[in-house]
Amino acid sequence: MRPVYLDNNATTRVDPDVVRAMLPYFTDQFGNPSSTHAFGASVGAAIKKARRQLQALIGAQFDDEITFTSGGTEGDNAAILSALELTPDRTEIVTSAVEHPAVLTLCAHLEQVRRVKVHTIPVDRRGRLDLDAYKAALSPRVAVVSVMWANNETGTIFPVAKLAELAKEIGALFHTDAVQAVGKLPMDLKSTAIDMLSLSGHKLHGPKGIGALWIKRGVHFRSMIKGGHQQHGRRAGTENTPGIVGLGTAAELALKFMDDATTRVKSLRDRLEDGILQRIPNTCVTGDPMERLPNTANISFEHTESDGIPHLLSRVGIACSSGSACTSGSMEPSHVLSAMKMPHGAVRFSFARDNNEEDVERVLEVMPAIVEKLRDSPGSGPYGRSPEDVLSGPYLSGSRTGCRS
Ligand SMILES: *Cc1c(COP(=O)(O)O)cnc(C)c1O
Repeated sequence: MRPVYLDNNATTRVDPDVVRAMLPYFTDQFGNPSSTHAFGASVGAAIKKARRQLQALIGAQFDDEITFTSGGTEGDNAAILSALELTPDRTEIVTSAVEHPAVLTLCAHLEQVRRVKVHTIPVDRRGRLDLDAYKAALSPRVAVVSVMWANNETGTIFPVAKLAELAKEIGALFHTDAVQAVGKLPMDLKSTAIDMLSLSGHKLHGPKGIGALWIKRGVHFRSMIKGGHQQHGRRAGTENTPGIVGLGTAAELALKFMDDATTRVKSLRDRLEDGILQRIPNTCVTGDPMERLPNTANISFEHTESDGIPHLLSRVGIACSSGSACTSGSMEPSHVLSAMKMPHGAVRFSFARDNNEEDVERVLEVMPAIVEKLRDSPGSGPYGRSPEDVLSGPYLSGSRTGCRS
């Protein structure tokens, strides 16, 4: 049976058209884009094309606003570090409690070693940013605000355009980690006050290890990576040409499939959510019910340990993820769900354009039995039987139907 992949917020399948576009850049088109001879020129043109493809996807005004990076993590680090370095008289950062570790770990580090003051804005139980706390944290001491466009775990969308306007009023730069939003939401950056935006190739059916930082024209930027003059001195190091071409192609495809992402993919997600809520008692959808990515379902199952469900689903060929981080063998709720004061037991299903209705049906078919067994068996774990106990039971050894009794 075809495996069902519903973990697209972790990474996506590289689109075959992306692979096809990349291949020549591993073979004939091997030139260094900085070379002035023909070998370099054609590769340089390919990089320029990729910039234009990205520009179209995010609604940037100029293609030279795009700097290629190694991915989302580098973009996040580069934007925040640049802002701090360029405004030494401003020593504060504003961010949210639910950012990706690429932002939060950097902020914690800066707090420790550089005595930067970090304002970590809380969220409510639906994952919405506390706007009053946000406004209160803004002052002329703030160098940069870094707030994500959409959350990777719950899909909750932050009102970044509005947040950027507020940051602008106090003269702070506004950076957004849009790794989860790019390709899933239509964007028109030129009409916003956002100054910098990070994106990543492998979250939009492009290759891993490539991303981009968009820096609005007029915004100063200083790279932490010192070296050659590549990419207008904004990112030293010979360009990852195949990756860049792959990212450009992925961006073009994402634009082409934008309608699909916001309609068909969303309806698959909604069907899964409705199906689970109808079939399984004591479940709820986590995150902002309105302002949410069209592809992400984060569902909380009372009285289950969050790792139990993904573990059992994986045994029947279904990939999703738990809202937990495994630390030294014990499952701890993720920082995102903790910030939302949500208890254990959340499972994230994240869709993409390569999913179909059969995937949803497969999950709905097996979920009730899995949850029932994890819940009602008094066993080893605090909430019920361990995955191993359940796996040895009739459900997985026997037929897929009729195991609910
Ligand atoms: C995946 C992800 C990142 C990291 O991107 P990489 O390209 O893997 O470094 C950053 N932020 C968010 C919200 C993500 O989902």
